Amino acid sequence: MNPPLLEVRDLCVRFPIGRRDWRGRAQAHANAVAEVSLSIERGEALGLVGESGSGKSSVARAILGLTPIASGRVLLDGVDLSALGRRDVRAKRRSLQMLHQDPFASLDPRRTAIESVVEPLAIHRMLKPRERRLRAMVLLDAVGLDPLQSARFPHEFSGGQRQRIALARALALEPELLVLDEPTSALDVSVQAQVIELLGELQKRFGLAYLFISHDLALVRQVCARVSVMYAGRIVESAPRDELFSAPAHPYTQMLLACAPLADPAMERARSLPVLEGEAPSSARPPSGCAFHPRCPERQRVLGERCVRERPMLTTRAAHGAACHLI
Ligand code: SF4
Repeated sequence: MNPPLLEVRDLCVRFPIGRRDWRGRAQAHANAVAEVSLSIERGEALGLVGESGSGKSSVARAILGLTPIASGRVLLDGVDLSALGRRDVRAKRRSLQMLHQDPFASLDPRRTAIESVVEPLAIHRMLKPRERRLRAMVLLDAVGLDPLQSARFPHEFSGGQRQRIALARALALEPELLVLDEPTSALDVSVQAQVIELLGELQKRFGLAYLFISHDLALVRQVCARVSVMYAGRIVESAPRDELFSAPAHPYTQMLLACAPLADPAMERARSLPVLEGEAPSSARPPSGCAFHPRCPERQRVLGERCVRERPMLTTRAAHGAACHLI
């Protein structure tokens, strides 16, 4: 059996807190990500959802090698990236590319659209100069940009068009997996819909896999076949999309779904929303036991002290996992 395209096992990411010693080393660390495991098959889209600060972007950055891993493993095609030398990791990581929330983060304002797409090919010494420009034109066309606009600079495009250029650039190195970090949150709702549609088309055309990071459950539902929910640096629920949306098992997922805005504005105005009280905890000082216990409506009703004392493990039954003492 072939290994998954991407496999993350027991990933932990830490950041320094508090005072430093005389050598500048931190005296203490806090977990931004703790024991996160996930896998993505070729051509599959996995959604990673949660509130701001839940650790989802830290997972993405660790997978891409942009932030150090405290422990755990990242395997690409079954190969542990930590076991490879620097040159081999760089070559292997070509098949992972990222699309940022803000296209200005990946586009140089001094480069034209076509130069932005050609640049990664030049950095990796792929193709001859003329072939690079041809490939860039094909990609700009694939993301729905008029090739006649390829000599324009980023500021001459709309936000949605800039995100299309960033997508063409991300596709230049023929990646197998795109990490999409809140790719539409800086865009208007109508432009969001166009970019989501484009992502679906590109996924089919190029056989792409996605790790789609978002706080917007409606977008995740449109793009992803499976969804993992993060809270305070840990995955608290993971399930096939339809199952997660029709029968969420974890009280946090239930609250997220209950609070998500409805597509119909009239229904949205008419309903009374449940309240997700309190703030997401700081990962520097997570609550004891189940990190969700200070906000959980079920704790008071059912379990009380056990939730405060004991952290629930992720229990998986038939591809649906949840970390709650009720399960
Ligand atoms: Fe709520 Fe307890 Fe389940 Fe945590 S373990 S989600 S506090 S019921």
